[in-house]
Amino acid sequence: MQCDTKFDFITRKHHCRRCGRCFCDRCCSEKVPLRRMCFVDPVRQCAACALLSHREAEFYDKQLKVLLSGATFHVTLGNSEKSETMVCRLSNNQRYLILGGDSHHEIEIANISTVQIVTEGFAPGAGSARVTGMCLQYTVPGAEGTTQLRLMAGEDANASKRQATAWLAAMHKAAKLLYESRDQ
Ligand SMILES: [Zn+2]
Ligand SMILES: [Zn+2]
Repeated sequence: MQCDTKFDFITRKHHCRRCGRCFCDRCCSEKVPLRRMCFVDPVRQCAACALLSHREAEFYDKQLKVLLSGATFHVTLGNSEKSETMVCRLSNNQRYLILGGDSHHEIEIANISTVQIVTEGFAPGAGSARVTGMCLQYTVPGAEGTTQLRLMAGEDANASKRQATAWLAAMHKAAKLLYESRDQ
């Protein structure tokens, strides 16, 4: 989407700081921080980019903290039959998912191809489904095909389960942002 206004000396062009395209003043009037490009102070962006940047700003403020602090899950890796209790968190440089328990695993975020929420208790008319887990498909460098990782929140209703549910919701939002920025 590019502005189709004809520019001259009076109608000036403005560059969106996010997509770099040219717009008239009306199409490119919003100023939003753009943290991923290190613009902490608001910069001019086109309407479509401003919307994405608002969502990212919210993500940085709220969800990132949740992902970095981690949560406890029943983790099933690949085709394994049994699950292991592990703490799953985002690495401080935000590039890896780190799984720590009796064994230790690191998955590069860039290698994750799909993120799917696992829900339970969904019936038509019964309101929203309850999020209980997440399924990730990812590629392992040097290996063929994709590997699956399954994270399930514990069954007991306690603080660690609430933390796991919040972590899953944050990861789901993160995945959406990731795909949106890949599509651009
Ligand atoms: Zn833009
Ligand atoms: Zn315009």
